[in-house]
Amino acid sequence: RAKANGKACHEIFAPTMYLSALKELHLESDLRQAIQRQELVVYYQPIVFLKTQQIIGAEALVRWQPPGKSLIPPNDFIPLAEETGLIINLDRWVLQCACQQLYEWQQDFQGLAPHFISVNLSPKQFFDPRLKDIIIEIVGKTGLDKKYLKLEITETVFLKNSHTVLNLLYQLQQLNIQICLDDFGTGYSSLSYLHRFPLNSLKIDRGFINDLGQTNQNDAIVRIVGTLAQELQLELIAEGIEESYQIEALTTLGYQWGQGYYFSPPIDAQAFSLLLEKNTFHI
Ligand code: C2E
Ligand code: MG
Ligand code: MG
Ligand code: MG
Repeated sequence: RAKANGKACHEIFAPTMYLSALKELHLESDLRQAIQRQELVVYYQPIVFLKTQQIIGAEALVRWQPPGKSLIPPNDFIPLAEETGLIINLDRWVLQCACQQLYEWQQDFQGLAPHFISVNLSPKQFFDPRLKDIIIEIVGKTGLDKKYLKLEITETVFLKNSHTVLNLLYQLQQLNIQICLDDFGTGYSSLSYLHRFPLNSLKIDRGFINDLGQTNQNDAIVRIVGTLAQELQLELIAEGIEESYQIEALTTLGYQWGQGYYFSPPIDAQAFSLLLEKNTFHI
């Protein structure tokens, strides 16, 4: 765009563009190495049954731990990973860790292990023609039964050709894999795809949970999404629960499952195992 706007703009914008390109270049090669050097770690956030506050699932969330530096959150490197295509390797790696981890928890905790593991899938990975083969290969290696795997996709995938999307979702369904629509309500929400596409779960975006009790409009949306999920027989998860009044409001509106800092932030596998152990003390 700077070019089209003539020389003046070029002079104004060039230095910052150059700097950010340079920064990205470093970040890209660093990220590439991070994957090879295994500096990425998978954290897990419990998903709980609101009535009993027992753990029913876990969401895998990646972090980057450069040696001697502080932990880097995914929002700081996932966009770059998507731009550069590194996301394909990254998502495969997270998928493998997550499936392996749930398999281990099943061995260690049996019935008290999470009932499913949720893994976020970038649109790039979702549309990768090798997706099905990759999943079969990776999950197969870990020994986990595919029915315990939930893939989280976002509404952006519905912008693509709907035949392609439908086809891919059916393929995943045939593999017995569950699909969760993440961040519901933030994107290009069209209600029609909720019944047109084979989905198992809806995760309402945490913005709506954050605003609970503040405006009638917000609460109306939360209520209607609750009703919609019930009518369409979709599992419904509320993300971003931070306060106990939100749990009360959500259970009143028919929400059964939730996740958020109120219960636990994403934590490493070892800390998650401690939570599972505590769970066993209750029973
Ligand atoms: P997401 O999938 O919507 O994940 C939920 C995010 O909300 C996580 O941020 C989680 O830490 C945060 N969160 C959970 N409870 C609360 C709460 O009570 N309050 C607040 N304020 N936040 C809460 P995180 O871990 O930083 O991840 C951000 C996003 O990065 C994820 O959003 C997901 O879109 C992406 N991401 C993370 N891991 C992966 C991955 O392995 N692959 C891909 N493709 N994307 C990933
Ligand atoms: Mg997610
Ligand atoms: Mg989300
Ligand atoms: Mg999100």
